[in-house]
Amino acid sequence: MTPVVLAVDIGATKIAVGLVHADGAIAFQSRERSPVRAEPSLALIERLGRAAEVHARKNGLTIEGTGIACGGPLDLEKGLVLSPPNLPDWDRIPLTTQMETSFGAKAYLQNDAAAGAIATALWDNPDAVRDVTYITVSSGIGCGVITDGFLYTGHTGNGSELGHIPLIYDGRACNCGLKGCFEAYASGTAIGKRYTEAKATCMATPRSYSARDVADAALAGDEEALAFWHSSMGMLARAVRAAADLFDPALLVIGGGVTEADGELFAPAMALVGSSMAASVGQRLTVRKTGFGRNSGVASAASVAWNEIGSATGFKVRIRE
Ligand SMILES: [Zn+2]
Repeated sequence: MTPVVLAVDIGATKIAVGLVHADGAIAFQSRERSPVRAEPSLALIERLGRAAEVHARKNGLTIEGTGIACGGPLDLEKGLVLSPPNLPDWDRIPLTTQMETSFGAKAYLQNDAAAGAIATALWDNPDAVRDVTYITVSSGIGCGVITDGFLYTGHTGNGSELGHIPLIYDGRACNCGLKGCFEAYASGTAIGKRYTEAKATCMATPRSYSARDVADAALAGDEEALAFWHSSMGMLARAVRAAADLFDPALLVIGGGVTEADGELFAPAMALVGSSMAASVGQRLTVRKTGFGRNSGVASAASVAWNEIGSATGFKVRIRE
């Protein structure tokens, strides 16, 4: 029997469940649109999890643990989801207990961006560096930080909320209640929303655009879309540079839906890190997209469990008890 972990990635729009080997290779994965509300979402996780169990049984795989990645805030000690802005009725949902009851194996919960940092450190880190920052840009902007091999959590486990650092004083309203956050401008959702608003003022029948629509139009030669995209990437570049200045990583990796944009379109998001304070004193910082591509959610969730059990690379991120 080959050991795998059950990986559960809970996003604002999609839920993915998979089986992942100790070296980060994905053995099985299924992904569906999230019903958003807690109860049907938990039923969906149960159904996808059962399908994964069947796949494991048929293929000689044994489930050693369950890793869960979910947007914060979370109570990591008790394994609870605490009404994240994008999942408002997930109020004190005891996720780890529920997963352990449903699937037997011990379950581990982590903030999705922290999980991204753990997966990067374990499996997408060829130089085995100990200072890794991971930024996820999708419905929101999340950030996970590993410093000298330790996960940065803050006092409550909800630290490094890069997306809620204000970019613009008294700017656009953000889901967190503040105004002007990076997330309100440069997340995938925000890019689509702002473009929709910009176009609505000059169109008789306004349509709704996603970040992907903007990227596609930019690629197809629409100059207005290209300029809008570039200014959005310029905002994102300031968030990336802020992370480089705050955390001084050796490896800075960016994942999430927005990174699926064409390489040339995405490059401006990484343009400012070369001018960070650390870079100015000669620190060699590698900054790139995640090596997991579209699998980053499931790989991230899995790494939370493999980091506890012991992954194939032997790298272990220390997490405060
Ligand atoms: Zn905010």
